[in-house]
Amino acid sequence: MTRRLLLSFVALLPRLRAAQQVVRGRLRQDPSLPPAITLRDGAVVVLEADAATAGVLRDARLKDDDFEAQGRFAAPRRFVVDPIHLRALFVHRAGRRLVVTYWCAVCAVRAWTPGPCQCCQDEMALDPRDPALKDTDPSN
Ligand SMILES: [Zn+2]
Repeated sequence: MTRRLLLSFVALLPRLRAAQQVVRGRLRQDPSLPPAITLRDGAVVVLEADAATAGVLRDARLKDDDFEAQGRFAAPRRFVVDPIHLRALFVHRAGRRLVVTYWCAVCAVRAWTPGPCQCCQDEMALDPRDPALKDTDPSN
């Protein structure tokens, strides 16, 4: 690596570290369109996400929530959501920022995408909760 290349790489590092961004608004859940967030000013930002994250974005139970996704803008109207294991999806309810999770009270199983419980196969309940809680803590 030449000295000039090395210097430009080092100059880029702080920007890479600060790359995490947030988009917040209401989910657009039109099945014929890709998931998107409608911002307060009416602008629509299309969301790109992995399959598990897309499952959350299409969960009708979240359609009226004040919704937040972490990731980065690929363009002014296109946002790439962080992968599901980074737990990048939140709702704001009554002034609290809650991470979106799913919970089966019968089996005490938690998941981060909607669908049947991996244990009993019943549909899991939407369970937004304090992000500081441990995965194994019961529903609050
Ligand atoms: Zn279960």
